[in-house]
Amino acid sequence: MTVTIPPSVFTPVTGEEPPSLYLHIPFCKSRCAYCSFNSYACQSPPAAYLAALADQIRYWSGHAWCRERTFATLFIGGGTPTIYSGSELAGLVRQCLESFNFSKDPEITVEANPNTVSVQLLTALRRAGVNRLSLGVQAFSDRLLAGLGRSHTVAEADLAIKAARRAGFANINLDLMYGLPGQNAAAWRDTLARALDYDPEHLACYELTIEDGTPFAGLVEKGELALPAEEEALAMGDLTHDLLARAGLARYEISNYAAPGRECRHNLNYWRNGAYLGLGAGAVSCLSGFRFGTVKDPEAFTGLVQAGKLPFAEAECLPLAARFRESVVMGLRMLGGVSCAQLCRQFGLTPTGYYGNILEDLQQQGLVVVSDEGLRLTEDGLPVANQVLARLV
Ligand code: SF4
Repeated sequence: MTVTIPPSVFTPVTGEEPPSLYLHIPFCKSRCAYCSFNSYACQSPPAAYLAALADQIRYWSGHAWCRERTFATLFIGGGTPTIYSGSELAGLVRQCLESFNFSKDPEITVEANPNTVSVQLLTALRRAGVNRLSLGVQAFSDRLLAGLGRSHTVAEADLAIKAARRAGFANINLDLMYGLPGQNAAAWRDTLARALDYDPEHLACYELTIEDGTPFAGLVEKGELALPAEEEALAMGDLTHDLLARAGLARYEISNYAAPGRECRHNLNYWRNGAYLGLGAGAVSCLSGFRFGTVKDPEAFTGLVQAGKLPFAEAECLPLAARFRESVVMGLRMLGGVSCAQLCRQFGLTPTGYYGNILEDLQQQGLVVVSDEGLRLTEDGLPVANQVLARLV
């Protein structure tokens, strides 16, 4: 499909936050039973995909929208980016840093799975400028990892974290999951305690959700997957905030916790509904309200790029009210909430004026609070965030 970017989005507006750059690597060694991400199992990822990605970096770095802006973060996610070698990934990072304008101290993150890293690979990433590593650890229990269909063990997670420190990573995130089949609050407490032993700068703690089309969804349908009861899962959530707060990791987003100053800048830009350019199969971009996605299948993506075509799949120009609602819903994910003054400056709309009775109702139920600083979820609102946000979409 042909996509024409409206000229109105080209010129940066006053006060616009710097955009983020995302590269997607859609390959994993095997597929986890709960996964709904755009990823494909393969043992040896194709060099042609990296060449296509490099081509897209060249194309977009010369694009007027990018030339007018200075990027603040680069995030290589997946899939499992570290399924490629250290030198291949380092080459991508260097190409991005040389091709786009970046701020003086960009945050550069690479996602990795424990059984795909070594000190050599991680050292190559550090040398290329990667300063943040996000490791998909999920659980410190081989039994639970096997149940999730993860391709690594606890011992491999331990080696990976130690290797990252040896390679010089001083900013590490560990992804963890709770609400797993066969997990209780005591087992989750054990995973959190084991994770804290490594003094991570950041933890992302997600409750398992069953997504349509995944093997887990099929098992649930057949009544063959026993998930923890709702109260047990809520207890795991409460445990998380208490334990991590005591360890000095403050909750700053519904599922994310960080040491002071270690909040993920890339994701903060996303939750603030800032602009981002996403390159690679299935990646989505949002350039000042103009959103487009690329084809999901990596072979189709590579083929289109090789044929000299842009691999677009869909595009839409979001109306102002839709962008306003999105900013509210995304912003409420952060514990600090969303600034009403900023919303008014950006969209000429305020939450109270726009939502009227809906917001009043949520306030009366004690789920949100509107103050001079802005709109945010309350302590009671956070555990039921999804229901609250659904009313504001
Ligand atoms: S490692 Fe991540 S992206 Fe890959 S299959 Fe598992 S959940 Fe999906």
